[in-house]
Amino acid sequence: MQSKFRVPLILIGALLISTLLGSSAIRLRPAPTPTAAVAVALPTDTPWPTATASPSATASASPTAFPVAATPTATATPLPWPTPDAQARTREVKVPVLMYHYVGPLPAAPDQIRIGLTILPDYFEQQLQFLQARGYTSIDFYQTQNALALGAPLPAKPIIFTFDDAYEDVYSFAFPVMQKYGYTGTVFVPTQFLDDRLAGYMSWDEAMELYHAGWRLEPHTKTHVELQNRSRDFLVYQIYGSMDTLRSHLGYQPRFFAYPSGKYDDAAIAMLKEVGYWGAVTTDSAQFHRLANGFAWGRVRVSGTETLPDLANRLGEPFP
Ligand SMILES: [Zn+2]
Repeated sequence: MQSKFRVPLILIGALLISTLLGSSAIRLRPAPTPTAAVAVALPTDTPWPTATASPSATASASPTAFPVAATPTATATPLPWPTPDAQARTREVKVPVLMYHYVGPLPAAPDQIRIGLTILPDYFEQQLQFLQARGYTSIDFYQTQNALALGAPLPAKPIIFTFDDAYEDVYSFAFPVMQKYGYTGTVFVPTQFLDDRLAGYMSWDEAMELYHAGWRLEPHTKTHVELQNRSRDFLVYQIYGSMDTLRSHLGYQPRFFAYPSGKYDDAAIAMLKEVGYWGAVTTDSAQFHRLANGFAWGRVRVSGTETLPDLANRLGEPFP
């Protein structure tokens, strides 16, 4: 079908552009072994996802088949898993992944945890103003993956905005400001909360409006539970179930996951890989990412108890 021809052209184009231009955000680590040996030196415990693991039938389905009002944008369609090239093992990208929760006014009598998790609207706009002035361009995890696997070019200062838990105020307050500054984000969705229409969380209509504005919706379990020391059935339900629910809304299989409370173990990672995830983020602090630790990428916590100079400092930006 049409998309099967389009996608390789996109990849070839990306490779050509990458070769011609390079990218300041991508850097190579010294390879410990000759390039020719890299392909056979891949550790067997972290197999690359194969092309056959990709649900190509659903990935190529038209998003317009879903009963939504808005028109999907071209940027909302993910590329299929890029088979990593010989340099993928040594590639590293610097991509700050900002971690937000609430963006909006505080409720009455908030406790310290709620205050820490909440960015007030004015402060949120100051942050975006600052990031835009410093030349940051928002990307998503799919672009990051392509940069690592193939050396596809990234903007000079890429950044990923993540919003955990799909709180309603992200739709009401963060979304319009993000649009104003030309940014898109990724929402990690505890899918059952939206299915159940829990108060304080987005509706599916709101979440899909973000998606059709170029945002990503990625799974965050079904009911926001921590994942260590869980049975296989439990992990299937939470990890595959949330992916499956989102797929039914998006029309393609989402590939990136956020661990609730940043908690996980080897069994959780194994389940993520088994059902076809490409990566996952934690709540640890990190800004450099490699494919080898793709299921434990760190982020940059954005706290309501800190100020803009704190954020600037964490990003290595001089302030003012
Ligand atoms: Zn969460």
